Amino acid sequence: MHPERTLILVKPDAIQRGLIGDIISRFEKKGLKIVGMKMMSLDEAVLREHYAHISDKPFFPGLSQFMMSSPVIAICIEGLDCVDAVRRITGITKAREAEAGSIRGDFAMSVSCNVVHASDSIENAAKEVPRFFKSDETYKYQKSEYEHVYAEEELEAMGG
Ligand code: UDP
Ligand code: MG
Repeated sequence: MHPERTLILVKPDAIQRGLIGDIISRFEKKGLKIVGMKMMSLDEAVLREHYAHISDKPFFPGLSQFMMSSPVIAICIEGLDCVDAVRRITGITKAREAEAGSIRGDFAMSVSCNVVHASDSIENAAKEVPRFFKSDETYKYQKSEYEHVYAEEELEAMGG
């Protein structure tokens, strides 16, 4: 049991389709804490870094154009083991095969336009959060619902 932070991007297709609220709401209702959130435009440099693992793929130029076609919403989320929890809520990359109930499974059909990005590992989350948020753009605060979201030993694992 570890307190973690992870990065979510609400992608341009979701912005265009009016899904911002629905997507953020999924994470909120799960009991996750939003500790940073902003609208921002991405440029080629940050996309090359963020998508370094696929920057040599033929679909990368198109993906880059898509990710720059409108602003995105960057969200930093905190919770117990939340990197994995957020990936489960997000669903698999190819949205038309993503599990019903996941965000991609419920809201998308495409392998590219799949409405949301979520960090895929603790290591990557630790790199991705500071890529999109300066240290004074994330916040520490008490969430009163935590006593109903977590059991006592889980709250202790998160540092009280
Ligand atoms: N992507 C794409 N075509 C592909 C595979 C991926 O356009 O064949 C895009 C898609 O938007 C995906 C992003 O590249 O979300 C990052 O790919 P990754 O394999 O990291 O998938 P994710 O972690 O987003 O599920
Ligand atoms: Mg990924």
